[in-house]
Amino acid sequence: MSAPLPWLEAPLQQALRQRAHALLFHGPAGVGQYEFGFELAKALLCEAGGEGAHRPCGRCPSCHLMDTHGHPDFKLLMPEALREPLGWPEEESRKKDAKPSKWIRIEEVRQAIDWSHQSVSRGVAKVLLIHPATAMQEASANALLKTLEEPAPQVRLLLTATDPELLLPTIRSRCQRLALPMPPREAALAWLQERGVAQPAVLLDAAGGRPLEAQALAGEGVDAAAWAALPQRLRLGDVTAVAQWPLPRLLETLLKLCHDLMAVAAGGAPRYFPADALPSGAALPALAQWSRELTQLSRHDEHPWNASLLAESLVAQAAALWPAARPAAGARPRVTTLGR
Ligand SMILES: [Zn+2]
Repeated sequence: MSAPLPWLEAPLQQALRQRAHALLFHGPAGVGQYEFGFELAKALLCEAGGEGAHRPCGRCPSCHLMDTHGHPDFKLLMPEALREPLGWPEEESRKKDAKPSKWIRIEEVRQAIDWSHQSVSRGVAKVLLIHPATAMQEASANALLKTLEEPAPQVRLLLTATDPELLLPTIRSRCQRLALPMPPREAALAWLQERGVAQPAVLLDAAGGRPLEAQALAGEGVDAAAWAALPQRLRLGDVTAVAQWPLPRLLETLLKLCHDLMAVAAGGAPRYFPADALPSGAALPALAQWSRELTQLSRHDEHPWNASLLAESLVAQAAALWPAARPAAGARPRVTTLGR
């Protein structure tokens, strides 16, 4: 069988050769850090090949236990907010009315450390995957230090990070590092096509070249036509185009649109939208101001905004970039004062 993400095949071989007891792998979001960690864990625990195996066999009892998320020698630490998107059931202890946490809790880290000291169940290894390691706050990260330095025999620790510089230096220095590459465009397009994504080139551009993000867009019902139509709909102030979107996705998309409009206004090429999908006429100074406001807002997307009001306001703000398109354009709404 081939690796689920072909562009990660070479790093997988490298990681299996390195046999580090603590491995930190990092790379841009949306290239498959979790998938890489899971596949590596599966390979390390696979009972078919033993030492020197190149990839998990996919058939042995251990591979089967991994696939059904029931392997006793595999533990995954990740924020509650990532469980459902990555296909893991909610923790039973979670309060149903609470917002899923973005952090890995210190009790979970302590439990994982205790688990790492218990003996191996199936006799091959024990693998702890922490995704992403940057979701551990300082106390949690400190709790892990001793285990990182001297893990119990047969224990392997796998840590992911988009930006390893955000980790405590004491964590970084205790891990071997492995950079995950951006996939070559052709490989990413072929992979998306295999998964039934129509016109994958448009969505791959929309996702900045990150295939898993392109797949997520497609999964949310954003197809190539909808993406290409978006700038025009925003120009007309059509809030229904984005009404169902989570706020972070909307902000990110507006930042991409702003980037492309600025690039084109400055005589360059767009990166995220097809060139012919971008309405002309927005002025560079207004775009620069918009970019600053969006950037500032996107840093605060966890605030308890009234999301639908904010979305409306953001769309009105976008539409105001093209004054001619709006018959009775008034003062440009200020979004930064809403919902505080
Ligand atoms: Zn196997």
